[in-house]
Amino acid sequence: MKPVYLDNNATTRVDPQVVAAMLPYFTEQFGNPSSMHAFGAEVGGAVKRARKQLQSLIGAEFDHEIVFTSGGTESDNAAILSALEAMPERTEMITSAVEHPAILALAAHLEKTRGIKVHIIPVDAKGRLDRDAYRAALSTRVAIVSIMWANNETGTLFPVVELAEEAKAVGALFHTDAVQAVGKIPIDLKSTAIDMLSLSGHKLHGPKGIGALYVRRGVRFRSQIKGGQQERGRRGGTENTPGIVGLGKAAELAEQAMHDEVTRVRGLRDRLEKGLLQRIPNTFVTGDVDNRLPNTCNIACEFIEGEAILLLLNRAGIAASSGSACTSGSLEPSHVLRAMSVPYTAAHGATRFSFSRENNDEDVDRVIEAMPPIIEKLRDLSPFWQGAGEAPAAFKPVYA
Ligand code: PLP
Repeated sequence: MKPVYLDNNATTRVDPQVVAAMLPYFTEQFGNPSSMHAFGAEVGGAVKRARKQLQSLIGAEFDHEIVFTSGGTESDNAAILSALEAMPERTEMITSAVEHPAILALAAHLEKTRGIKVHIIPVDAKGRLDRDAYRAALSTRVAIVSIMWANNETGTLFPVVELAEEAKAVGALFHTDAVQAVGKIPIDLKSTAIDMLSLSGHKLHGPKGIGALYVRRGVRFRSQIKGGQQERGRRGGTENTPGIVGLGKAAELAEQAMHDEVTRVRGLRDRLEKGLLQRIPNTFVTGDVDNRLPNTCNIACEFIEGEAILLLLNRAGIAASSGSACTSGSLEPSHVLRAMSVPYTAAHGATRFSFSRENNDEDVDRVIEAMPPIIEKLRDLSPFWQGAGEAPAAFKPVYA
């Protein structure tokens, strides 16, 4: 039976059109874009085209605001390190409790090794940022704010356009990790106060190991990879030209698919969610249901282990995830669900299904059919479920 892949927030299949666009840059078009001869010129043109394709997808004003990197993690690191270096008189940063480890691990490291004061802003039960705590943390001591555009586990969207305005008022730079948002929702940076934005190729049917950091014109930027003058001196090292061409093509395809395909994907996600909620008792959706990515469903089934659900789904040919790929393998519920105070009895049984334009109705039917007996079987074995029937009041989720 054809496998059902519903783990697109972890990574996506490279679109065959992307592969086709990349192939010549491994073979005939092998030149170095910095070279002065014809081999270099053609490849230099291809890099420029890719920059424009990304510029268009995120609504940047200028193509040179795009700096190619090795992916989301490098972009996130570069944004924060650059800001702290550019504004040494400011020794604080702000982020949220539900960021990706690419931000949170760096913040912890900076706190420990450089004495940077890190304000970690909490979220509520729906994963929404505590706006009062955010305002209270903002001051002229803050060099950089880094708040994600969309959460990778629940899909919850953050009001980054408004948050950036508030950061600007105290002269802090505003960075957003938009690795999960780019290509899934419309983004138009021109009219915002967002200074920097991270994106990653492999989350939008592009290749792995390539990404970009948008740096608004005029923002003081300090290169974190010293070397040649590539990327206008903002990132040394010969460009990953096949990857850059692939990322550009992926951006173009994502922009084309933005309306019709995203609406179709949302329909698939909603049908899956409705089907599971109807068929499985003591189950609820985590995150901000009314304000989230159209492709993500994080569903918590009380009184069972997420890991066991994944193993049995895998046996049925269905690939999903419990929390983020980086935290699966650990039996602790994810830091995102803990930050949202999802009760332990439910957080353990949280499963993330994330769609892409490659999914179809048959995929949804397969999960709706496979999941209820899996949950029933696991609950039969669960000491917590025995006799629980209806969830005890203390475990009732607080979500409406
Ligand atoms: N930020 C978020 C929100 C992510 O979901 C991921 C990947 O899972 C990353 C950053 C890291 O991106 P990359 O894998 O390109 O380094």
